[in-house]
Amino acid sequence: MGKSYKKWSVTALALDPVHVGTGGGRIGRVDLTIVRDPVTRIPKIPGSSLAGVYRTYVAMHHEENRQQQIQQAAQSGQQYQGRQKPFYPDCAGLGLDANRGHCRQPDCPVCTVFGFARGAGQEGGFAGLAAFTDAHVLLFPVPTRRGPMWVTCPMALQTIGLTVSGVDGEAVYVEHAGNRLNLGWLLLETRTCDQMDAIKSKLEELRIPDYIRNHLALVSDGLFHHIVNSNLEVRTSVSIDPATGAAQEGALFSYEALPRGTVLAWEVIAKNPGLFTIGGQKVDLSQGTKGPDQVWEVVQKAHPYLEHLGIGGMGTRGMGRVKVLSPSPSAGAAGLAQPGGQGGTA
Ligand SMILES: [Zn+2]
Repeated sequence: MGKSYKKWSVTALALDPVHVGTGGGRIGRVDLTIVRDPVTRIPKIPGSSLAGVYRTYVAMHHEENRQQQIQQAAQSGQQYQGRQKPFYPDCAGLGLDANRGHCRQPDCPVCTVFGFARGAGQEGGFAGLAAFTDAHVLLFPVPTRRGPMWVTCPMALQTIGLTVSGVDGEAVYVEHAGNRLNLGWLLLETRTCDQMDAIKSKLEELRIPDYIRNHLALVSDGLFHHIVNSNLEVRTSVSIDPATGAAQEGALFSYEALPRGTVLAWEVIAKNPGLFTIGGQKVDLSQGTKGPDQVWEVVQKAHPYLEHLGIGGMGTRGMGRVKVLSPSPSAGAAGLAQPGGQGGTA
């Protein structure tokens, strides 16, 4: 029997402003606010939103492959022998419609990895082999006199497994201390920090580009909250009448977004398919790979789509695209029971 699960740390760079909305809330003059952590009040992307986006893109990838196989078969004068109805777009949806439901097959990459609900008169649902944590802001770009700097804090670094202590709330810690530094409107004393090297090497491991690693600004958790929330992008847009395609008069609305250049971090936890059955059949997604890696192989198929089609994003072009930087196994990836609470059996 293999490992029961394995974790991967994913970091991603926002290529566009990223807006994952709350579906209505209004703060001050902003009509469309983004989701915030209820405790820290820092914007985040909920794991449930990430799972939905990954599910759609994994299904899209497999449907593209299927179409390609059909075309290849036709070109060589053969009958396509692959998958028949239900197709992958059906597996991407909510699966509640009797005619367009999830296929629920033990070898379907979409249904097994992302799960399915219990249908009417059918046997139980399946929780899905991949779980997604919330995506947190790891590094937040702020304009300064020295050019853009990427701000982080102990709480944000904790999400990538780094413990940093002794950060004073009155100062900003940078690689080269000097004159006071403005982070947006905030003017702070600069100091150096003996943990900066450890932070930089961890960020290198997570494939954060040089130009970001060489412009780090470490502040306290409290200041981080303040800096992020006062430097979000707020844009104003015009509502378009879907019937006519024309701008609706007086229908201006504003929305907030994480700015381009924000680095987000999340974790993917993959269970071992070999430990599960669906409808009495063993779950198996791959001819080659075994164990949790099978799940990770499927999950990763969504990453190129995140870069080109984006997350959330107001349903418009030029919003929400993120480039995944680091699909690397995180520390504690062994998935065996450990005192640190990292492991355990499913
Ligand atoms: Zn399916």
